[in-house]
Amino acid sequence: MESQNRDVAIIGGSVSGLAAADEFIDSEKISEIRVFERQEYDDKRVDCGEAINDATLVPLKKTSSNGFLNNVRGFQLRVYTGTDRSPDEEPLGVSDLQCDAGYICDRDTVEQQWAQQLSDSGVVFETGKSVTAGEYHDITEEYDYIVDATGQPSLTHKVKDEVPDYTGDMVALNATVEGDFSDYIDYPRIFFEGYVGYSWSFPKSKTHANVGIGWAGDQRPDDYMSALEAAAERNGFPVPDQEDVNIYTIPRGPSLKPQSVHIPEDNVFLVGDAAGIANRYQGEGICQGIRSASLLAKLISEGRESAYPDELFDKMKSEYRLARLMRGAWVEHEDPQLLANVAEALEGLTIDDITRQPQRVIGRVIQHPVVATQLVADGGMLRRLLNAYTDSWEYNSTESV
Ligand SMILES: Cc1cc2nc3c(=O)[nH]c(=O)nc-3n(C[C@H](O)[C@H](O)[C@H](O)COP(=O)(O)OP(=O)(O)OC[C@H]3O[C@@H](n4cnc5c(N)ncnc54)[C@H](O)[C@@H]3O)c2cc1C
Repeated sequence: MESQNRDVAIIGGSVSGLAAADEFIDSEKISEIRVFERQEYDDKRVDCGEAINDATLVPLKKTSSNGFLNNVRGFQLRVYTGTDRSPDEEPLGVSDLQCDAGYICDRDTVEQQWAQQLSDSGVVFETGKSVTAGEYHDITEEYDYIVDATGQPSLTHKVKDEVPDYTGDMVALNATVEGDFSDYIDYPRIFFEGYVGYSWSFPKSKTHANVGIGWAGDQRPDDYMSALEAAAERNGFPVPDQEDVNIYTIPRGPSLKPQSVHIPEDNVFLVGDAAGIANRYQGEGICQGIRSASLLAKLISEGRESAYPDELFDKMKSEYRLARLMRGAWVEHEDPQLLANVAEALEGLTIDDITRQPQRVIGRVIQHPVVATQLVADGGMLRRLLNAYTDSWEYNSTESV
């Protein structure tokens, strides 16, 4: 009978690494779970909008001491003519999307508490030191399974010198600011303003918010900080102090071939941002990371780990598909009024619908025949539809959008 005493090394102890550790705890197959995290949890710093869209995926009580600060009802999309406008200009379209299980968090606290809970359950943590390339090789020799949850670009790709294969193309700046956010505490705001990307203001409380701006396309400002300041002024949130602002590159999304998430010779598996699976359209990656890690841990426990690349791809497929179509709604037309009409057509759907349920989104758009006709009256958009529904948009293409 196959030995059940396997050990697993998880490199990277953020949401994806913690989710993997959590899923392994009850596995009869795994006797040791060791997490290597380069930061200390007490002073861990996460650069993120801190919206967890499905907080049920994190096995902690939803209390503020666990970092769950604002239990939002949803998110509000606000579509404007562009960036060259007065702060008084009304949006072209506004749409409220529902998100029952959504929270704006203090993510550092969420991770700190989650790590503590895991440590209490027997997971071993080695913190405060980066795993080097040399140590990575030692770990692959020593452990039966290695989960690379090191974010983007992954340690595995750095060690293999394959980073250019998937370096991200989304740049974002964010900060936590103080102000009065009572007007939209229940519906954090996302501002679309005529570029590929968006600005956001996500209240953590009536007086604090995570705010930021990100660009996904080639057209980016020369001076990111000035662009964030201008976005704050026109979108009505406080201008962050420069020293509080984080700048970060978000993975381009589903940019890895399915086979690249498993390196069989070393038994290394990539999850979360390391696997490049943050949403290509809106940059969400926490729930994606948790889902990928849980899937992997479950498959390892069942002895079916070689199915991970295919099952991950299947799990992500509708999200890949929808991200490509949603991005096309702007990229192929560059028409703010059309985007506003699409956003309004989606009013009342959930964040999950517009992220993972293409049939619901298409069903809604079809109910607005003028919008639907405008959307598909374009060669690029038709190509996107065809590619999306033949699964051929992804790995046989050098296109970056
Ligand atoms: C500005 C911005 C805003 C965002 N907003 C949101 C949002 O609101 N909601 C959302 O869902 N997603 C958001 N995202 C995306 C989200 O942050 C990521 O998708 C998510 O953090 C991925 O989690 P992860 O655990 O896979 O990787 P990461 O969070 O990147 O964690 C990787 C971990 O590995 C550790 N590590 C790295 N290298 C080593 C090493 N060599 N040795 C040991 N440890 C190592 C790091 O310290 C880190 O803890 C945002 C991203 C950005 C940049």
